[in-house]
Amino acid sequence: MASVSHQPVQGMSDIASPDIALWQMIEQRARGIFARYRFSEVRTPVLEKLELFTHSLGDTTDVVTKEMYMLEDRGGRKLALRPEGTAGAVRYVASGGEESSNARIFYMGPMFRCERPQAGRKRQFHQIGVEAVGVPNPLADAEVIALQVHLLSAWGLEGAEIRLNTIGLPEDRAAVVSGLREAIRPRLHELPEEARQRFETNVLRLLDSKDPEVQKVISGVPPVIEFMSAASRAYLDTVIATLRKLEIHVEVDASLVRGLDYYVHTVWEVVHGGLGAQNALAGGGRYRIDVGGKRIDGVGFAMGVERVIAALEATGITAAQFAPPPPVFIVSLGEAALNENLLLMQMLRQRGVACEMELSARKVQAQMRRADRSGAQRVIIRGDSELEKGIFVLKNMIDGTQQEVELPELMCALEKS
Ligand code: AMP
Repeated sequence: MASVSHQPVQGMSDIASPDIALWQMIEQRARGIFARYRFSEVRTPVLEKLELFTHSLGDTTDVVTKEMYMLEDRGGRKLALRPEGTAGAVRYVASGGEESSNARIFYMGPMFRCERPQAGRKRQFHQIGVEAVGVPNPLADAEVIALQVHLLSAWGLEGAEIRLNTIGLPEDRAAVVSGLREAIRPRLHELPEEARQRFETNVLRLLDSKDPEVQKVISGVPPVIEFMSAASRAYLDTVIATLRKLEIHVEVDASLVRGLDYYVHTVWEVVHGGLGAQNALAGGGRYRIDVGGKRIDGVGFAMGVERVIAALEATGITAAQFAPPPPVFIVSLGEAALNENLLLMQMLRQRGVACEMELSARKVQAQMRRADRSGAQRVIIRGDSELEKGIFVLKNMIDGTQQEVELPELMCALEKS
């Protein structure tokens, strides 16, 4: 029989020790911050009905048309692996799971996009996100951005920058789209074919195109805010003024649009110089999504955990700094000691000491080698003669010294460390 490959699916990874220590630090500190801001966790399914995403993210967006993993289940139902977390979280709120006038939820977990794998782009990646659901209020947008900045500092990440813009109200959209088209039309012939299609289907997306030919045309276009209503401008002004009061620095960037259709008013992106081409750590924005007959207004962000880790590493913060404390290792000389040591190990673990031992009475050198590999700084050695005398040999692996101790002394030494 042919053997099965041990490789995971392309663009997806196993995440394990030692790297996992950084993931755990990130998640644990995030939970602490979310508790202070009174956000509670939701774990929505990874698989959702396809229509949830086509309807809420928009059916001309790249995520939906090019990147979503779609499948049919055995009953022929059309499903998708979630490419982002907001749609599921909002569906959960609309289902009555939270009060839709004031829900504050966060999520952590894998997202799936069938993009071309490259540095900083995975097909399974992880996001930590929050959603503050309730009537639009610029103070809520500023509060969520303040939370995000707090998270970055809790992780010890320096050097992140926030770029912020407004998409305006849906009522402004027609004026924005036609204003942009009017401004671009005289130079339409300079755009490549795909961009000309975008001009028709989603002209806003031309603003953040990376293509130099498109950028050249766009650089002459007025900022979108000039096509917007007074209400939309005032909303943005209040967000900016509130952030200033909170001493949070953001860069207003008129070319920022973000890729999904559900955004209204504020949109932002967090970028980091340590990341290279894929420099976005997080995306955020205010949205309006109709789901299950309800209109859900909210504001939130999603941070890409892999990118946060890459940025941390670029600034010198590594998993090794968060490795678990070294265990105590127990070495058994002979079968009788092996059995007694099992009991000792159980007792130590119940008292909160991390410990490990070889579960067979192998040669002492082999056990000491394993002790070394485990990173243990202290080793307890017991054989027949120690059993007889009721003592333990406690070896310090750093300076090589060892001493004979009785149980109370042993417990005292280990529990203190
Ligand atoms: P988005 O929902 O596209 O705004 O993504 C939010 C954040 O998720 C981005 O800023 C990235 O940090 C991260 N992200 C998005 N797509 C990927 C991907 N394919 N691989 C790794 N991280 C991603």
